Amino acid sequence: MATTSKPRRRTGMYENVMNQFYKAADVMGLDPSVKKILAITNNEIVVHFPVKMDNGDVEVFTGYRVQHNNALGPYKGGLRYHETVDIDAARALATWMTWKTSLAGLPYGGGKGGIQLDPKKYSQSELERITRRFTYALGENIGPEHDIPAPDVNTNSQMMAWIADTYMSTKSPSERSKNQHVVTGKPVGSGGLEGRDRATGFGVVVTLEAWAKMKGTTLEGKKFIVQGFGNVGYWAAHFMHQNGAILVGVQDATGTIYNADGLDPEDLLKYQSENATIHGYTDHDFASEKFFGIDCDIIIPAALGNQITEDNAADIKAVVIAEGANGPIDTEGETILLDRGIEIIPDILCNSGGVIGSYYEWLQNRNGEIWSMDDVITKLRKKLEDAFAKVIATSAQFGTDWRTAAYIVALTRIEMAYKQRGIFP
Ligand code: GLU
Repeated sequence: MATTSKPRRRTGMYENVMNQFYKAADVMGLDPSVKKILAITNNEIVVHFPVKMDNGDVEVFTGYRVQHNNALGPYKGGLRYHETVDIDAARALATWMTWKTSLAGLPYGGGKGGIQLDPKKYSQSELERITRRFTYALGENIGPEHDIPAPDVNTNSQMMAWIADTYMSTKSPSERSKNQHVVTGKPVGSGGLEGRDRATGFGVVVTLEAWAKMKGTTLEGKKFIVQGFGNVGYWAAHFMHQNGAILVGVQDATGTIYNADGLDPEDLLKYQSENATIHGYTDHDFASEKFFGIDCDIIIPAALGNQITEDNAADIKAVVIAEGANGPIDTEGETILLDRGIEIIPDILCNSGGVIGSYYEWLQNRNGEIWSMDDVITKLRKKLEDAFAKVIATSAQFGTDWRTAAYIVALTRIEMAYKQRGIFP
């Protein structure tokens, strides 16, 4: 007789973020009214819009923008172009942004969105029309003092420039330049910030440096693997390499490569830009399902959510995981890792360098200033080190894991704003 294994129930992204939220709310005793407010998103915008393709056909796209909470300031967060973008993902990612901006001490709330598509299937001019028409469809649902998008998975500074240009074009000529900060992550020549490109990856490494210091060691000689070799993964690998750490494995949507003696991130970047893949960089691809089990000290997931689950958490040999991605570990995966004593630098802390950089860009535009790379890097490091120290102290105070502690710091700030202001009317 055939045996049937029990079907495994997977937690979705939004369920994961809610599990994390309720855990922290219980540990800290979050005010019940604030808990009710934060347990749901403020606004969810879904737009369907037509775009003419290069061959003359018309395609209709679905775009999302979820605004989770704005108690501390305008909604802030990226736009993602990926086939996995749906309302559940947008809700989860918007909610994580609320915690992230609060933890970093920024005057922002949380939002996120994107379009469900595979950008590889479209030409550059199609992507431009898609981005501009999406911006137009969002209309006044975004705005420099209301909701400020930024890059995320598969979106880049060029797309942010199109968003800024489209949004500004809808304003009267005298108002246009006042609206440049409707989006961050723009190219440096069009209001962008020096250093915003590397801010997330740099921030990941600053939190790892702080972790190493706390352990009485350094990153030198530590072996690490990176999942995702886009903006976050590459820059994280670059700064780890600068610290003398050894990159032994990389995985992305195009392949899984491994070399126990070390891979050179700069050389790999060059290969990737010439071949549009990391596959073929080493003699043969490493088995993709064995990636997280590679013998190393540090794992930097810097791609999509739900990558470390009960399927692979038990195989992990690293001692610390630095979450460059948003939500890379699901609820079941996290339980296994915490039981095994593997440390996790949580996403809302670890990858917050990106949104902190965005805040500096927003300030720069708003104040008509131009900041230098040195200024940006120095300020970013200080902010991240402060946030790291706060999370560690809160973890000791409440006797809880770092993710829950990071939530407690973030939620305490939002709770205070609600208590001081009250609820209208
Ligand atoms: N997409 C990035 C994140 O998830 C950056 C958001 C921003 O800069 O607004 O944090």
